[in-house]
Amino acid sequence: MTIYNFSAGPAVLPKEVLLQAQAELPDWHGSGMSVMEMSHRGKEYMSIQAQAEADLRELMGIPANYKVLFLQGGASQQFAMIPMNLLRGKTSADYLNTGEWSKKAIGEAKKFCAANVVASNADRNCTYIPAFDSWQRDPNAAYLHYTPNETIGGVEFNWLPEVGDVPLVADMSSNILSRPVDVSKHGLIYAGAQKNIGPAGLTLVIVRDDLIGQTVAGTPTMLDYKTHADNDSMYNTPPTYGIYIAGLVFQWLKKNGGIAAMEQTNIAKAGLLYAAIDASNGFYNCPVALSDRSRMNVPFTLKDAALDGDFLKQADARGLLQLKGHRSVGGMRASIYNAMPLAGVQTLVDFMNEFAKKNG
Ligand SMILES: *Cc1c(COP(=O)(O)O)cnc(C)c1O
Repeated sequence: MTIYNFSAGPAVLPKEVLLQAQAELPDWHGSGMSVMEMSHRGKEYMSIQAQAEADLRELMGIPANYKVLFLQGGASQQFAMIPMNLLRGKTSADYLNTGEWSKKAIGEAKKFCAANVVASNADRNCTYIPAFDSWQRDPNAAYLHYTPNETIGGVEFNWLPEVGDVPLVADMSSNILSRPVDVSKHGLIYAGAQKNIGPAGLTLVIVRDDLIGQTVAGTPTMLDYKTHADNDSMYNTPPTYGIYIAGLVFQWLKKNGGIAAMEQTNIAKAGLLYAAIDASNGFYNCPVALSDRSRMNVPFTLKDAALDGDFLKQADARGLLQLKGHRSVGGMRASIYNAMPLAGVQTLVDFMNEFAKKNG
């Protein structure tokens, strides 16, 4: 039986990448060593990291005046590093609140500055993106932070906030590399690796270089982007094995047509699943506004929550795993990141149709 893993994160990785990592595990390219045994300052490992960065730059079209940093601490650590590094003498920053992850970023920012919430979707249970013309921005904000894809609520931007000269900061943890993004419109993009990049333990930061080097007083060395930018992410030991796997994922993306091709597949996958939900005559329901539905995380409930247990049990028996929704939303959530094949979504949809027919 083929297993399809719908986990929100850590999440599915491309099978080809896992098999390549398996083949190279004890002896990378005749070095006699596993990548995880190599000195991070040796030429073999340094070539792996340099290739990963070059491939990412090519895939995303990252301009030369942006640094790519391979960090640790998760996206959650960025919630603090962003105000510490990007306030640059200012005392306020703008934040859009679209759900659980935005709220965590806002909570952390409040330790360092006045976090001005420009708009919130809490009035409708975090199920839509507030229209841009309703945002109440602070003219003195040091930057504007938003979450292009809320992993828990399943709301995603299909447009880019145009904020002029204010650095735009994006938490792309759960939709990076899933669709083309104009990096040059951002001051900083960050993402924990464990959803769409690679294993947990690696955090990617892409930051415009003029924003680096003006931290708030007392910022620890390790939390200063300059430390990592000046040392090619090798101030201390980087998460070497995670960077190696991320590099394999970048090569897999390049081989499969890059991000534009990935976007087409993601549109097809999400379209298939939402169509099944919408055609179920209310047996399944997705609470998210039509225009703001995520292509990566699809939350849905069953008409009768008493059927949730049966649904999950029978899905499991079909090899459809990790579909239980987040505790704050309930119901189900299917995370269908880049590495989830169309066949996985088709198998899920076939099961859902069958289940609805039997229990409707
Ligand atoms: C998972 C997630 C986080 C938290 O990531 P960690 O790496 O666990 O800190 C933050 N933001 C978003 C949008 C996420 O999906």
